[in-house]
Amino acid sequence: MTKNERIYLSSPHMSGEESLYIEKAFSENWIAPLGPNVDKFEKEIADYVGVGHAAAVSSGTAAIHLALELLGVKEGDIVFCSTLTFVASANPILYKKAKPIFIDSEPSSWNMSPDALEEAFSYASKKGKLPKAVIVVNLYGQSADLDPIKEICDKYDVPIIEDAAESLGATYKGRASGSIGKFGVFSFNGNKIITTSGGGMLVSDDEGLINRARFLSTQARDPAVHYQHTYMGYNYRMSNILAGIGRGQLKVLNNRVEARREVFSRYFKALSDIDGIKFMPEAIFGMSNRWLTALTVDQKKLGLTRSDIIHGLEVENIEARPVWKPLHLQPLFKGSKYFLHKGKDVSKELFQSGLCLPSGSNLTEEDQSRVIKILKKLTNK
Ligand SMILES: *Cc1c(COP(=O)(O)O)cnc(C)c1O
Repeated sequence: MTKNERIYLSSPHMSGEESLYIEKAFSENWIAPLGPNVDKFEKEIADYVGVGHAAAVSSGTAAIHLALELLGVKEGDIVFCSTLTFVASANPILYKKAKPIFIDSEPSSWNMSPDALEEAFSYASKKGKLPKAVIVVNLYGQSADLDPIKEICDKYDVPIIEDAAESLGATYKGRASGSIGKFGVFSFNGNKIITTSGGGMLVSDDEGLINRARFLSTQARDPAVHYQHTYMGYNYRMSNILAGIGRGQLKVLNNRVEARREVFSRYFKALSDIDGIKFMPEAIFGMSNRWLTALTVDQKKLGLTRSDIIHGLEVENIEARPVWKPLHLQPLFKGSKYFLHKGKDVSKELFQSGLCLPSGSNLTEEDQSRVIKILKKLTNK
């Protein structure tokens, strides 16, 4: 018996135009971490999200690292960070030898709880040591509730880094996700809504800071013909070839958002009646790009855990994954302080019961029907 072809969680989806930009780069010999595609990709992203400036870099992680550097985060400093996220949100805090304090999610958006944030600030302020930055993650393509979060941060005069790695194309109260913090960060890793195979973007309205990000990401070379250096820099710039892929991808971003939202609504129509399955809600304050369709399962009602479902899909050659393991539960961050949402560990519960289904914009209806059929079989519906 031949095995069914594998259905992936989220795989790259090219438009066909990427190669035109790459061919042009080849014909003009712009095979370097600079060139017209890099400049134009920066401008196109800045225009798309409605911010003043953008710096194209080698990854979303690099963009977060640069943001922390630009905010002057140093050894021993504190940085607040959403707990329910991929490790890349917080690793750069460790690069700086600073200390993360993790903030729980609230149930209506699965993102940073303003209540937990307020508690963390009042703790920090009593201790006389405020964080240097707050990293707010927009999970699975949905913006966090940034108005109340920003209000709290403004009260303490602490800047926000919006980790919008998963939420390019989403909105918050009509504004683009990633455009609201002091800095916004996007990722173009292979599994994201658009990809350059690997890459990232740091955006801000502050031109001086974005210029500085470009300087730091190219080894911090002083303006002299000989190689002179006053500051420690990084090799973080995006290549002109990859920026070409990004330009082709950005043209179809809106289609990709539409397609992922359709994937979500097909799952929702087919499965939301099952008692014991609950989909990640779409908060009233914005439009999610539905990067990944996520849901939770009630073990008592279904007689199944999320791991049973993931396993049941895996034997059919379908990739599903648990919701991110919260960072406060990671061995890497053992001993870090953590603030709960109203006394309840919401992110832990989401992790224990939550999973993500195949959600690519290139997922065919036929393949999705296969996933749905197996889910119905597993849940006996
Ligand atoms: C993917 C991702 C990143 C990191 O982006 P890379 O480009 O892979 O370095 C950061 N934060 C979140 C929430 C992500 O999903």
